[in-house]
Amino acid sequence: MKPIRVLQWGLGAMGSGMARLILEKSGLEIVAAVDARPEYVGQDLGDVLKLGKSLGVTVTDKPETVLDKEAVDIVVIATTSWVKEQMADLTQIIKAGVDCISIAEEMADPWAQSPDLADELHALALEHGVALLGTGVNPGFVLDLLIVVLTGGNHTVERIEASRVNDLSPYGPTVMRTQGVGTTPEAFRAGVADGSIVGHVGFPESIHMISDALGLDVDRIEQSREPIISNVRRETPHVVVEPGMVAGCAHIGIGYRGDVEVIKLVHPQQIHPHLEAQETGDYIHIYGKPEIHMAIQPEIAGGIATMGITVNMISRVVAATPGLKRMIDLPVPAALMGASAYSRKA
Ligand code: NAD
Repeated sequence: MKPIRVLQWGLGAMGSGMARLILEKSGLEIVAAVDARPEYVGQDLGDVLKLGKSLGVTVTDKPETVLDKEAVDIVVIATTSWVKEQMADLTQIIKAGVDCISIAEEMADPWAQSPDLADELHALALEHGVALLGTGVNPGFVLDLLIVVLTGGNHTVERIEASRVNDLSPYGPTVMRTQGVGTTPEAFRAGVADGSIVGHVGFPESIHMISDALGLDVDRIEQSREPIISNVRRETPHVVVEPGMVAGCAHIGIGYRGDVEVIKLVHPQQIHPHLEAQETGDYIHIYGKPEIHMAIQPEIAGGIATMGITVNMISRVVAATPGLKRMIDLPVPAALMGASAYSRKA
C-alpha cells in the first residue's frame, strides 16, 4: 500500500507536533509544508522541526506552488480558530481538489455559527470531489464525539452535563491573553465584554453537533465566562498570578430546547490547578435510560490528543465521500498503529 501524501499547513505548536507524528506513521508521508513565518520559509522541514536531519521538504509561504492533487492526497491545516479567517485558505485547498482536515475550533461544526459559510464550503467540496473535516481534542472529541458515542446504547437521553477541567500551564502567551490569565477580576470582566477574553472556543460547535447527532432539537445556546480568582501565587514562563488575580476562565455553555436545559458543558481552564487542590479530568453525565457517569483522570491531554486525533483521521478523510464533514459523520477515530488502520473504508 502506498503511503498517504500529506501537506502540513501551519507549523506552530500543533502543526509541528502533527508533522512529527506523521513522520512516525508507516502509512503516511509528508510531501509539502506551508507556513507564513519568515524564519521558516525556505528552510528544510527537518530543520524547522529540529530533527537533526533533512527531510527534503522545503517550507513555503506560497501554497499554490505545492497544492497539486497529483502529488498531495490531503492537507492538514493548523493556523487559526475561526472559519472566516480560514475561508480563503480552505477555498484554495478545495479548488485544488485536495482533501483537508482543519483544527480550527469553529470548523468542528461550522453550521453552528456560520451556516452560510458552511453551506458554501460543503457545496464547493461536492463540486470538486473533496472531503473536508474539522476536528481536534475539543471541540472535535472530548465534549462532543465522546458524549455522542457514550449514548450509543441509550433508549432515552433527557439531559447531558459534561465538564473538562484542565491545566493551562503549558500554553503560550496567546492562550494566557485570550483566557484572561494574569488579569485583575475587573480587567477580566472588561475583556469578556469587549471580546478580547474569549475563554474556550467551541461550545456552540460541540452543542450543535451533539444535538444534531441525537436529535435533541437544541434551539438556543447561552454562554457565560467567569474569572477563576487565585488564592495563592501561581507562575508559568509566560505569566505571574498573585493572590486575588485571575488564574483562568470558568466557561459554561448551555443548550436549551425551549426553556429546558438539555446540554450543559463546563470548561474551567486555569494555570496550576493543583496549587489549590483542584484535580483535572473529563467528566460526562448522561441522564436518561440508562444513566451514565464517566470520569477520566487526569483529563485527556489537550495538545497530544489534538495532534493524535487529527493524524488518526487522515485515512478516514481520504476514504470519505465528498463534502464538509463533522466527527459525527465519519467512522470513529482510532490510533493508527498497524496496516489495517489505514485501509478501512468510510
Ligand atoms: P500557533 O500559533 O502555535 O501556530 C499557528 C501557525 O500557523 C504559525 O506558525 C503561523 O505562522 C501559521 N499561520 C497562521 N496563518 C497562516 C496562514 N494563513 N498561512 C500559513 N501559515 C499560517 O497555534 P497552534 O497552537 O498550533 O494552534 C493552531 C490553531 O488551532 C489555533 O487557532 C488553536 O486555537 C487551534 N486548536 C484547536 C484545537 C481543537 O481542539 N480543535 C486544539 C488545539 C489548537
